[in-house]
Amino acid sequence: MSASEYVSTRGGVARVNFADAVMMGLADDGGLLLPAAIPDMRAQLASWRSLSYSDLAYAVMSPFVGDAIPAAALKDIICRSYATFATPAVVPVRRCGRVHIAELFHGPTLAFKDVALQFLGNVFEHLLTQRGGKLNILGATSGDTGSAAIHGVRGKAGVDIFIMFPDGRVSPLQERQMTTVPDANVHCIAIKGTFDDGQRVLKEVFNDLGFKRDYQLGAVNSVNWARVLAQVVYYFWSAFRVQEATGAATVQVSVPTGNFGDIFAGYIAVRMGAPIRRLVLATNENDILSRFFRSGEYSQGAVCPTLSPSMDIQVASNFERYLYYRVGENSDRVRELMAAFARDKKIVITDGGDSLFAAGRGDTAMTIETIRRYYAAEKYILDPHTAVGVAVAEQYLCDDAPMICLATAHPAKFSAAIEQALGSDLAKHPALEALKDLPVRRVLLEPDKRVIEDYVKATV
Ligand SMILES: *Cc1c(COP(=O)(O)O)cnc(C)c1O
Repeated sequence: MSASEYVSTRGGVARVNFADAVMMGLADDGGLLLPAAIPDMRAQLASWRSLSYSDLAYAVMSPFVGDAIPAAALKDIICRSYATFATPAVVPVRRCGRVHIAELFHGPTLAFKDVALQFLGNVFEHLLTQRGGKLNILGATSGDTGSAAIHGVRGKAGVDIFIMFPDGRVSPLQERQMTTVPDANVHCIAIKGTFDDGQRVLKEVFNDLGFKRDYQLGAVNSVNWARVLAQVVYYFWSAFRVQEATGAATVQVSVPTGNFGDIFAGYIAVRMGAPIRRLVLATNENDILSRFFRSGEYSQGAVCPTLSPSMDIQVASNFERYLYYRVGENSDRVRELMAAFARDKKIVITDGGDSLFAAGRGDTAMTIETIRRYYAAEKYILDPHTAVGVAVAEQYLCDDAPMICLATAHPAKFSAAIEQALGSDLAKHPALEALKDLPVRRVLLEPDKRVIEDYVKATV
């Protein structure tokens, strides 16, 4: 059993290496890929504490990459991925009132998705150079993922990226973060419809297996294992920084959660031996996951729009990975449960729960109150997603395990929410201000499989 061989949660894929797992994205049997074993790194922790972010990233990730990428190339990929961050610490951790904030938003698009997508873009480029292929990435976005994916692969050899977003339904700022990127391999598609129309067309195109094969379609959503892997690093990093600052033996980490990708990386970190006593799962009103961790019932509700739109998700694409471990790595059981969920929109797990997790919901009123309170007391502006995490974290504070709150976006990205909470638009960022004067490139298309496929064909 090796950490650099990958199996599917549904048991229907022959073992593949890291490179094939990254290229496959979603497992071919409809499940998600996971390493066949998770290495126990507790003996390494002492030596990991003094490493730079990039060196720590290499130490954490290399057992999962194995010989799919040579050591020197992997080190180079990691260094280039984090050199694009605005601070040498990559993820600065600062004390703020009763919590510690791990700022994950210093990458090019000011959201935590850069941590994974800068890495994934460079991995794609490396693998394509080795294999001599081409990749056409097709994605649908409601905001953050599209711009982070574009900035991950802009200008890269062998890759074209097509991102669909609903015309007039993403914030003007989020649209400019995509449409002002000048590189010739970036193609922004406004679709005449909603985000759901975009997702539907995406699924239809990926299900057209002939087109998928002929046009080498690739995916960048968080089902890609490389995204989860890159996120494992900052759980170790931020735990070490807070241990240094406080002398605590263990910490807690609160995670604003949507698709369960970020907090699942925390789960992997804990299984590797990270000194984390508890993971606090925070949702907004779209609370399927917090209800699950409190009651064992995973049941789908309707999506409700909130101030933290990147967490407005009901069916969390990475949950199946956790479920696989929760049922004892039994892929037959996972298949049964996922079939039952597809049929009934509900499953119930009655095994007494998982004491590693605590969970709660931070609603819109709590989000606004928390942003106000931290600004008044600390002069610190929380973005609305981070505020949900902080609001729930405050229910689980304890003396001997300090609380780390993951800050998933810069507040300037969600200035309307900040204005609503603080009365004026106090959060600014020069990178976003600069976009206001740049030329925009986009096409406007019908959300129709044939139309999108014809556009891809005509463009590449
Ligand atoms: C994507 C996103 C989240 C949710 O992360 P998941 O991995 O989907 O749970 C939270 N906050 C922000 C700002 C995001 O962009």
